[in-house]
Amino acid sequence: MAEIYGQPVARETPAVHKFGGSSLKDVTAISSVIRTIRSHVRTEDVVVVSANGGVTDQLIQVFNDGTHRLPALRESVQQLVTTVLDQPDALLVSLLEDLELLSSGLSQTTLSVHDVLAYGELWSAQLLSARLHELGIPNHWRDARDILTVDAQNNPVNPAKAVQILLDSKGEGIQILTGFLARNEAGQGITLGRNGSDYSATLVASLLRSSAVYLWTDVDGVYTADPHVIPEARRIPTLTLGEAQALSELGSHVLHHKTINPLLQHPARIIINTCDSDTLGTDVVEQSRAGEGQVKTLAHKSQLVQLTLAGIHELRTRQFQAELTAGQINQYACHYDKTRQVLQLCVEQVDFFRTSQLIRQAGLTLVQQLSGVSLISAVGHNIRQNHRVISQLLGRTARFDVLNIHYPGNDHTLCVLLADEQAEALLADLHAACFDLAPSIPIVVLGYGNIGQQFIRILKDNKASIEQRVKQSLSLVAVANSRHYQYAGECLLDEVIVPDQDNTSGEIYQRLSDYINKPLVLIDLTASEAVAARYPEFVANGWHLISANKLVAADDIRASHLEAELEKQHRRWLTNTTVGAALPIQSSLRKLIESGDQVQAVNGVFSGSLSWIFGQYDGQRPFMEWVRQAHANAYTEPDPRDDLSGQDVYRKALILARQLGFNEARVVFTPAIPDELMAGTLEQFWARSAAIDEHVAGLWKAANEQGKSLCYLASISSQEINVSLQLIDQQHPAAGLRPGDNIFVIDSAWYAGNPLVIQGPGAGREVTAAGVLNDLIEVLQSA
Ligand code: ADP
Ligand code: ASP
Ligand code: MG
Repeated sequence: MAEIYGQPVARETPAVHKFGGSSLKDVTAISSVIRTIRSHVRTEDVVVVSANGGVTDQLIQVFNDGTHRLPALRESVQQLVTTVLDQPDALLVSLLEDLELLSSGLSQTTLSVHDVLAYGELWSAQLLSARLHELGIPNHWRDARDILTVDAQNNPVNPAKAVQILLDSKGEGIQILTGFLARNEAGQGITLGRNGSDYSATLVASLLRSSAVYLWTDVDGVYTADPHVIPEARRIPTLTLGEAQALSELGSHVLHHKTINPLLQHPARIIINTCDSDTLGTDVVEQSRAGEGQVKTLAHKSQLVQLTLAGIHELRTRQFQAELTAGQINQYACHYDKTRQVLQLCVEQVDFFRTSQLIRQAGLTLVQQLSGVSLISAVGHNIRQNHRVISQLLGRTARFDVLNIHYPGNDHTLCVLLADEQAEALLADLHAACFDLAPSIPIVVLGYGNIGQQFIRILKDNKASIEQRVKQSLSLVAVANSRHYQYAGECLLDEVIVPDQDNTSGEIYQRLSDYINKPLVLIDLTASEAVAARYPEFVANGWHLISANKLVAADDIRASHLEAELEKQHRRWLTNTTVGAALPIQSSLRKLIESGDQVQAVNGVFSGSLSWIFGQYDGQRPFMEWVRQAHANAYTEPDPRDDLSGQDVYRKALILARQLGFNEARVVFTPAIPDELMAGTLEQFWARSAAIDEHVAGLWKAANEQGKSLCYLASISSQEINVSLQLIDQQHPAAGLRPGDNIFVIDSAWYAGNPLVIQGPGAGREVTAAGVLNDLIEVLQSA
């Protein structure tokens, strides 16, 4: 059993679910929250709630303007309680008591702003808890001020105690915790800054070492810009932790200022989504290379005041900024000029009064203040290292009256300061520049086995970055295998893919008839002759083709016919994964030929599966056990005999020979395992394992006696295509090959005597799917 601060915890740590004010704003929203709790929250999990939408704003007004604002507040909270609860009386009584306390506390000025604002979260937690009880869902609510104590920088003090309290109450049903509230080291109740419940959630998650934090809000994820401001904005499936942190520091509502900090040490998955969502939301992942150097999202913060403080030492600057943080005043675009001793920073207009008080108390000199300022920021992993992106962004801002360009201390952000009036226009302009995409070419995937599923997974994961690269949106319209299909007129990439419509008579092709004479990319990830037989039809329809299926590419007559038709139709056909999975073998040969080289021969190990099986086989464990394992790991074709027969290598050899124009070569082809041992059905083949083991053991023994090893080799030249099992000595380039690797040794006029060698994993779902993705990107870029 794992431990946190000496407390035993189950291996499956509690998840934290935060429901924002917008998710709790009315009876309909609360019903969605309850459905989400039923479907996603386990008894051991912690729920963190914000105040019901609008309540914090009303409490601020009450605090600022006085008790005459109380009746309107009472009215709205009472109305919410009575519509949500079947039996509201008990909660209404305690609500009225609270309002009494609030009223008298305000009149006697004994309440701090924190005490006043706290009621929002207290009422919200009680309301949700009471409704869950009415529905028979065990739970109990807690005031986070009894659990979380934080220092002036909002970091937890005595985390062990907090964990103990949180874990102690396990078994009493779901814990509902008030977000936004904590206590300071002096024991006073405090609040954690606007939108602070996001921070409460990640803080609790880090204390409990949760593996996941769900931020349920009114949008189904983080978008390329605030979707309420830029309607064209699109959801981003994944953000890196660095991007999420950069975004949160820019004061975006969707992620509170400090949301990410607690998770830097104890990373947990953060999922941002809306209740009853149709999509997977946005996932914050620790790291991802996808989208590196590209703008992922644009943040927008308006109504700021830019302050310039002069004659301030560096140390004093840090102290002053810490004082602002302790006062929950967020600062943006801070810049300290050491030589001039000038500090420039922005605060929100609402915080300006308190900021100027702090400036005065600190005896600092405010030399300039400029209100009505907006901060527009581009965020994306390492964008600052991508000069093309930075100059594109700066180029677009040139048409606006920019006050300042700010370069924060991380590589993921570039900020522009300008007047509020121009901000939305700049945001829209940058959004169009960064994210406007041409309409998509529909994509269809045939084959939903190992490779098909992996391919769709990486297509989903990298959607945003691929779209940026190909400058068009991706639209996967259909997925099918020989039995079932799933078709959507629009993009399937945000959905759960379940091919469940009957496809036994090729119904999918009926569905695709709408696309005849329209561009479409058909990706054949099957090994099926039935699909291969339709290639001429696909091309006649005007579709691009990508094949991992070797059947047509290895057949010179069929391939030549197809190519003639493709040329007429101006369509592409890429087959790079038919040989060497994602290894750049066909493309390298093409480039050599295009640049005038003459390739004389290609030799090597062309089968990842046979390389793996023969590489693992050491004469000890029976040969067929390795075959079974390779099959289970998807290193082989669906029928492993396609590999063992050598057919698969033979096809690859034919594909390369065709590419090199070696059409007249004589063919010497011997299967890796004799045909008679592989005849009949697949079951009969497996049943013959002992005989195959014996055959291979004999070959291995003979090879071993000569100090050699077994290797299934292919060699192609203009004279001969030779595919056979050979004994190789230790000097052979294929001798030290890692099991599963392919090696292609290319002899050419330019590489005479010292051949060009391409080596690496040549089988497996990951690399093959990645190779297919490369082909897709190439087709989309050229289409
Ligand atoms: P909650 O009440 O759940 O805390 P907030 O209103 O604080 O929700 O935050 C969600 C809001 O953040 C959205 O409604 C949206 O207007 C705003 N927002 C700002 N930038 C983005 C963005 N890039 N993606 C999604 N939402 C954003
Ligand atoms: N209720 C607080 C606010 O409105 C905290 C939060 O919603 O996260 O800012
Ligand atoms: Mg919020």
